[in-house]
Amino acid sequence: MHCPFCSHSETKVIDSRLVADGNQVRRRRECQECGERYTTYEAAELVLPRVIKSNGNRQPFDEAKLRSGILRAIEKRPVSLERVEATIDRIKHRLRATGEPEVNTRDVGELVMAELRELDDVAYVRFASVYRSFQDVNEFREEIERLDRGKTGRSE
Ligand SMILES: [Zn+2]
Repeated sequence: MHCPFCSHSETKVIDSRLVADGNQVRRRRECQECGERYTTYEAAELVLPRVIKSNGNRQPFDEAKLRSGILRAIEKRPVSLERVEATIDRIKHRLRATGEPEVNTRDVGELVMAELRELDDVAYVRFASVYRSFQDVNEFREEIERLDRGKTGRSE
């Protein structure tokens, strides 16, 4: 980066160390032109993308809302809270891994459904029925039929 004092483009790193439990790199730099020293911090970008709603509004990713949606879907199902938290962590990790500053609410929904499908069939169908009710009824019906066929196949 350019020197903040004189805007010269050549700076030299004179010290570099891990800080914040190894989550940041702190660098002392010295300008090759004016000799001033300054500090920079480097950290991975862990901010979750903002969610674009179908009406075009943007809002921050709402983890509490995601959690309550999943908890509703697993009601009376044999799924531990530990697995719910692991699922939420995976969803957040995948959202960060997109590297996108903004994602469509539909993409978030698909991601959640993919994770719920791994977690519990019934939870998946419950969530999908709420999520997809006004989006694609036929697709949803096919999905339930597919799950039903899968169960029949196993019991025979
Ligand atoms: Zn300088």
